Amino acid sequence: MKIKMRDGSMKEASFEEALGREAFRHTSAHILAQAIKRLYPDTKCAMGQAISEGFDNGIQDRIPLSKFHYDFDFTFRFSEENFPEVEAEMRKIVKENLQLRQFTADRQWALREMEERGEDIKAEILGELRPEEEISFYRQGEYLEMCAGPHLAYTSAVRAFKLLSVAGAYWRGDERNKMLTRIYGTSFPSEDMLKEHLNRLEEARRRDHRKLGRELGLFALFQEGPGFPFFLPKGLIVKKIPWEATRTGRWLRGGCEVPWRIWGCPMR
Ligand SMILES: [Zn+2]
Repeated sequence: MKIKMRDGSMKEASFEEALGREAFRHTSAHILAQAIKRLYPDTKCAMGQAISEGFDNGIQDRIPLSKFHYDFDFTFRFSEENFPEVEAEMRKIVKENLQLRQFTADRQWALREMEERGEDIKAEILGELRPEEEISFYRQGEYLEMCAGPHLAYTSAVRAFKLLSVAGAYWRGDERNKMLTRIYGTSFPSEDMLKEHLNRLEEARRRDHRKLGRELGLFALFQEGPGFPFFLPKGLIVKKIPWEATRTGRWLRGGCEVPWRIWGCPMR
């Protein structure tokens, strides 16, 4: 795949490589935002990015980027019921095979452009930058995104995609800010790869420990401590048997136990 870098240069990277995957999923986020703007022009765009399963940021270097998301400020209650029309518009954008053109502009131009397009959130970001800052943009058709890239060279490379879920997300992760709508999706170079991934997600859902724990009567989770399972008698047996077996095995092999954490007593 051809990847367009921030400095305008082109690189070659496969979908299996970190750069290729980031550009692929990041471009998918742009396609989603473009579709949203075409369908609901009053919507304000915030930010989008490629992310890892279960993690929105921070450790992408170690876990492959498996999906993307984009945050929007809608004038109506957007829900999963809107997915079919958004996906249909995304398919059109892929088919149009739009070229992603990278360019830089000064802050004044960027601010004017974003204000004219009614992109209040992006104008707010620009207002915080230094006046001499050079801003990187990617344009695909009528859609303009303030973005450092990298991106695919053409939208047609995103052959298969699926919107996955919708969630509320405070702007900049701060609860004092406005609640935006975050749309998650995933994308692949082929329908077969997408299908395989969706099957894997479905299997993972079936084996979700929170679901199995409840169904098998192993442990209970309460609102007061969502990360703390309260083990039920059956669950304690399941927990204890392998624990005791490995403990005995260690003793038999001449090992010894070293306490590594004492609850309620922070080690200094
Ligand atoms: Zn981007």
